[in-house]
Amino acid sequence: MIRTAPDDLPDELRTVVDYRKSGLSLNHVVGCPLDCGYCVRHLFDNFDMKRPHRILETKDAVDALINHWAFQRDVTPIQIFNRATDPFLPNVKDELFKTLEMLDGLELTNTVLVITRWRVERADIERLEALHHLRLTILVTWSGIDDKQLEPVDSAIAIKSLEALHTFASRTKSVLYWRPLIVGVNDHSSLMLHAALTDYAAIYERIYGAKERIEILAPFMLDGFLNGDVAFKRARKQLHQTQKED
Ligand code: SF4
Repeated sequence: MIRTAPDDLPDELRTVVDYRKSGLSLNHVVGCPLDCGYCVRHLFDNFDMKRPHRILETKDAVDALINHWAFQRDVTPIQIFNRATDPFLPNVKDELFKTLEMLDGLELTNTVLVITRWRVERADIERLEALHHLRLTILVTWSGIDDKQLEPVDSAIAIKSLEALHTFASRTKSVLYWRPLIVGVNDHSSLMLHAALTDYAAIYERIYGAKERIEILAPFMLDGFLNGDVAFKRARKQLHQTQKED
């Protein structure tokens, strides 16, 4: 059960539908205990609200969204709970599912983006898979930041959520959403390389239908890279030639 938001909630947060990240964003629950150092709630003076609070009932929130002047049926991209709470927190996710099911019940085919850094489990995915019309993508946030003041949420949670989505979802799309990306903090080359290698392994699995560890795939990647490097092949030939003549 989500408690009701207090009367002194900042006006920006009381506006439950707003334009955000190329679509309309619906935020009728606010408050989050996850303490991310970069949380946008710092800007709303709301960071101390650690428990989720309800601003509108589900039906009123859905009405506010579909009657917004900018909303177009089957066209406008929608985001749910991407401003002031995490949609997969224990109480909040029930509200997320109800909202999605209500929109889906209207046979809307809009794209819906749901961004989370919390646990997405098999039972959650089964409920999402039961939607028929909405085009849903779950973006699982991962930053690779070790500083607990900036990123207090364990990265292993995102990894498990992505694994569960990869295993149990077919209709529901999922994305590893690398954010925040902070210059000098988590943009170093080893992290970028790790992300590229992880993607390589995922693409390999998609093509060949078999999982392989990165360290098993790495020699084949290097082989492919060296074989495709014409300048290296030419220089290598010359090297061997010179070695023979010596
Ligand atoms: S999960 Fe989202 S709402 Fe919660 S603290 Fe982190 S950034 Fe803020």
